[in-house]
Amino acid sequence: MTDKDNSGIPNETSGIGTGKKAAIITFGCQMNEHDSEVIAALLESMNYCHTTSPEEADLIVINTCAVRQKPEDKVSSLLGKFLELKKEKPDLIIAVTGCMTQQEDLAAYIRDRFQHVDLILGTHALPRFPSLVAMVTEHKGRIVDIKEDYPDREGLPVTHSSPFKAWLPVIYGCNNYCSYCVVPYVRGRERSRSLKDIIREANDLAAKGFVEITLLGQNVNSYGHDLDENIDFPDLLLALNGISGLKRIRFMTSHPKDLSDRLIEAVKTAENVCEHFHLPVQSGSNRILEIMNRSYTREQYLELIKKIRASIPGVAITSDLIVGFPGEEESDFLDTLSLIEEARFDNAFSFLYSPRKNTAAALLSDQLSATVKDERLKRLNEIQHRISKEVNSELLNQSTEVLVDGPSKGDAAFQTGRTRSNKLVHFSAGQDLTGQIIVVRITEAKTWNLQGEMTEVN
Ligand code: SAM
Ligand code: SF4
Repeated sequence: MTDKDNSGIPNETSGIGTGKKAAIITFGCQMNEHDSEVIAALLESMNYCHTTSPEEADLIVINTCAVRQKPEDKVSSLLGKFLELKKEKPDLIIAVTGCMTQQEDLAAYIRDRFQHVDLILGTHALPRFPSLVAMVTEHKGRIVDIKEDYPDREGLPVTHSSPFKAWLPVIYGCNNYCSYCVVPYVRGRERSRSLKDIIREANDLAAKGFVEITLLGQNVNSYGHDLDENIDFPDLLLALNGISGLKRIRFMTSHPKDLSDRLIEAVKTAENVCEHFHLPVQSGSNRILEIMNRSYTREQYLELIKKIRASIPGVAITSDLIVGFPGEEESDFLDTLSLIEEARFDNAFSFLYSPRKNTAAALLSDQLSATVKDERLKRLNEIQHRISKEVNSELLNQSTEVLVDGPSKGDAAFQTGRTRSNKLVHFSAGQDLTGQIIVVRITEAKTWNLQGEMTEVN
């Protein structure tokens, strides 16, 4: 048996990285970003120093995304480039993890096509990461670990990329099997964390000075259904709302099919829970929604957002849309355009449909051409960009609370932050206010952000 400290990390792995550097490259969603923060902490526990430069690293970890083809192609191209690095530095360890490698066929593709990759591990193998790196370091050969065995993740360390904002997963996996989506195959069945573990982590974060947490799950509304305790997502929000120091509680993603009145009430009444729902609709056509297996109609969706807006003043609603799903006729697409006109989302992320192996939609015969998909995406974006700007303009001259992220990337003379409704705001401050909550009066509205003037520091 291996000795472990209380974080579950084998003690004998603790010195493996001494004098060495590790780089992590992350693709994909917030859950992947969080997994990379866990990997960063596990590497620190092994005494690796972090570097952002793969060229100077002794260990490179690529955390992959499989939701669409584009991020998969980027990983293949990166791995091709890293062959040169491996030739220059034969002791370099290259590890590939995430949603691509959790799939047997893609793990085999990476193993066979990129012989310089030393370690292939799926999403579930994360707690075993230190032991696997130790085995590779001891030259035990190339390793593939893609078991779907859900080892316990509680107690694993996290190196947060921000000192005041943190991701906090509340439910792993997905049971919904939307017909286009690979997530249930690569993240497994839904597993809620216990209320006790989530509250403990949130309290720890608050004690360390974090002011904002974002609760993560593929469908946070499913939280609790698999637990012995009788608890659901609104109960969880209300419990977290009582933690002193946590000024902002966000959550994503909500599935429209089971967003309850109790959740709307909880967001309305819990003062630290931010007024923002990311509520992907995917399509405005009932025919396509049914083939997508989304379990709601456009009418139900529109009714739901009407109810949310009527209950919660100032609420922002953002969405995801898929363009060019198999068999999508021009009339279905026009239904999506009319839905976005009616819904008036604060913002929406639109994606070209990308066939995913093993999913039901990939087997449909009537796949659309790239030309049709591109043209529809362009039309949709034009409309949504206009709407986003119009919706943002409604905030002109209003004063709004902003949590400051730091100097603006484009112009360091400006500071950048987020409103409670998650809108990006740039403003001039004359001082660094990173991590502070201030009040800004909005002076200009654009599609992707707002400009403002600072009026008070809280
Ligand atoms: N669980 C969330 C949900 O149900 O909306 C998000 C999951 S997925 C990581 C994020 C978004 O990617 C989805 O909302 C969907 O719009 C998009 N997506 C998923 N599969 C896709 C595919 N095969 N092609 C294009 N977009 C896809
Ligand atoms: Fe994918 Fe649907 Fe699950 Fe979201 S709810 S992760 S889109 S299967």
